[in-house]
Amino acid sequence: MLAGKRKKLLEGGKVLKKFSGKKLLGLKYEPLFDFLFNKEVKEAENAFSVLPADFVSDEEGTGVVHIAPMYGDDDFQLGKKFNLPLIHTLDLEGRFKKMVSDWSGLFAKEADPLIIKKLEEKGLLYKEEKVLHSYPFCWRCDSPLLYYALECWYIAVSKIKKQLIANNKKIRWVPGHIKEGRFGKWLLQARDWAFSRNRFWGAPLPIWQCQSKKGENKGCGNVKVVGSFKELEKIVKRKIKDPHRPYIDEIEFNCPKCGGKMKRTPEVFDCWFESGSMPYAQWHYPFENKRFLEKTFPADFIAEGLDQTRGWFYTLHVIATILTLKDIGLGKNRPAFLNVIVNGLVLDEKGRKLSKKLGNYPEPKEIFDRYGADALRYFLLTSTPIGQDYRFSEKGVQDTWRRTLLTLWNSYLFFETYKEKGFSPKKRIIPKNVLNRWIISRLEQLKQEVIFEMERYEITKAARKINSFLEDLSNWYIRRSRDYFKKPKQKREKDEFSQTLYYLLKEFLKISAPFLPFISEYLYLELIEKKEPQSVHLSDFPKPKKNLIDGKLEEKMRLAREIAAKALAKRAKAGIKVRQPLLELQINKPELKKEKELLNILKEELNVKKITFGRTLKLNTKITPELKEEGLLRELSRQIQQLRKKARLKPKDKIFVYYFASAQLKKPLEKNKKLFVKEAQIKDIIFEKKAKKDLLIEKEVSICEKKIWIGLKKTKN
Ligand SMILES: [Zn+2]
Ligand SMILES: [Zn+2]
Repeated sequence: MLAGKRKKLLEGGKVLKKFSGKKLLGLKYEPLFDFLFNKEVKEAENAFSVLPADFVSDEEGTGVVHIAPMYGDDDFQLGKKFNLPLIHTLDLEGRFKKMVSDWSGLFAKEADPLIIKKLEEKGLLYKEEKVLHSYPFCWRCDSPLLYYALECWYIAVSKIKKQLIANNKKIRWVPGHIKEGRFGKWLLQARDWAFSRNRFWGAPLPIWQCQSKKGENKGCGNVKVVGSFKELEKIVKRKIKDPHRPYIDEIEFNCPKCGGKMKRTPEVFDCWFESGSMPYAQWHYPFENKRFLEKTFPADFIAEGLDQTRGWFYTLHVIATILTLKDIGLGKNRPAFLNVIVNGLVLDEKGRKLSKKLGNYPEPKEIFDRYGADALRYFLLTSTPIGQDYRFSEKGVQDTWRRTLLTLWNSYLFFETYKEKGFSPKKRIIPKNVLNRWIISRLEQLKQEVIFEMERYEITKAARKINSFLEDLSNWYIRRSRDYFKKPKQKREKDEFSQTLYYLLKEFLKISAPFLPFISEYLYLELIEKKEPQSVHLSDFPKPKKNLIDGKLEEKMRLAREIAAKALAKRAKAGIKVRQPLLELQINKPELKKEKELLNILKEELNVKKITFGRTLKLNTKITPELKEEGLLRELSRQIQQLRKKARLKPKDKIFVYYFASAQLKKPLEKNKKLFVKEAQIKDIIFEKKAKKDLLIEKEVSICEKKIWIGLKKTKN
């Protein structure tokens, strides 16, 4: 008998008759083996008949499939539906039981060839062939596994489904889509929870059952769930010395209903039941800390991976829902947690799982050694929106280190290098300069934004704000305020900038502490005074000073920076370096007309003599002889600065500069010597070559395609 689609199995045979599969339903047949025909199996005849099922394919095998109700979910459901005898022919180790007399004691898979041989002997084998199909194996020892129907203890989760769904409404999920998505959908189809496990190790179920005969679960049906050691001790009238297996299994008592023997059911808890019990079990509730838990339940916040929607998040939710169906002190109808952050998995650059076999990840310790733990933490926080899988790459961590940690570090170094001599922080700062007013406004704004995002548990968004502030601080504030630190026109000016940068750094470190805990702590300790909290992690998260936020100024500064970026692009396109002064930039933002300070910043940033207003952004790229001369002096100044750096001179070190060049490159310098010497902070410039041994450093540079020789010598003082 074959399904029509499997005709090729006939191998030359003849079709005698065609009919619909329906005709076979209810038909009894003679089994291949008669092991089941014994006294122990009731209604064995019932076991061998043709039944309808929708999980059978007419494209495999013969199109008719043999089922074994105790060894597969589909089979079991069908067996139950048609009242088949539910008996095991295999024991718990997968070996044939005594009733299968030919192979009793043999592991099912090992018996395969013997069974085939037997069929052949009996003339019942039509054809033998290998069929490729997927099969479960033990993940630890690779041995083949069997599906095995077992009696289990269940929690009737399906009965509280409505409440599970209602309690989920009270949880804030980040990312939000998990609430009604992955988790919500899982709740919709919640099934009863088989929470018992048939193994030795584990927390024993505190359930005793009445059994009239030894080793049989057929007592009067009395079940006792023991609620505490105390209760158990009261029942058995003695101390419980060890609540673990096997000792707990020895505890028996008389059934109060029929006088039979109450024995502990042999199963242990599914470890997920214990995970879900964490909020109570960790405090030994309700036996201890009852008040405390009642006051603090539910948890404000938990975090775990996406895979836990069916694991920990779920079991916490189920148990909390059950415990709050009535108010026993924990409140009524409550979830176990109010906020949850769900993160994705860490994958490699190409989106593959990290595996030892592939070797597609570096040792975390090496990453810590190379870039610090902060870099990895901040990379994970900012590279990926919460909930998506992380694509880990060392390059990404390195970029984070450079962009964020190094920038912060250099900002601190800048302060340490250029702060006032004998700097002492003031309690209040009143910024006057537009740069100071702007960056403080940005800082106070940052506080506000980070608090806003953190209160919504949007940590990716909060973390990214940190970096964009650092970018403003380093690439605009510090860059544009260098001259105020290095060559201030008045002491008051330098004082204001030093105070501002100090305030910025210290307040910033308090904001960055949760995101960059190590570097924040290190720099904080470098900056603080004795009277302050002795760890950044002990100081309060700073409150925004709203009166220092100036949204209009921030907007105008944004405009100015936008103009700067465009004008610099025009310079680059024309191939003119920023060091070469230009005459004029025309801009098209009339709202900046009155902003003298901002226009000055723009002039300095873009190195133009004046800014005018017109309909478009236009950069005058004509270089007059005067401008060219000025450009040459700037270039020289830069070269000298680089030599200073190379010679590891400190800003306070004074130098003599020796200079040798053609007349064409000498004249402009001679003409402007006085101003140049002052601007470049040089003691004097001498127009001659000097022997290398008398110099700190020397170099031949090329300016305007001509060679110039420069030598540096430190002054005595
Ligand atoms: Zn195994
Ligand atoms: Zn009983």
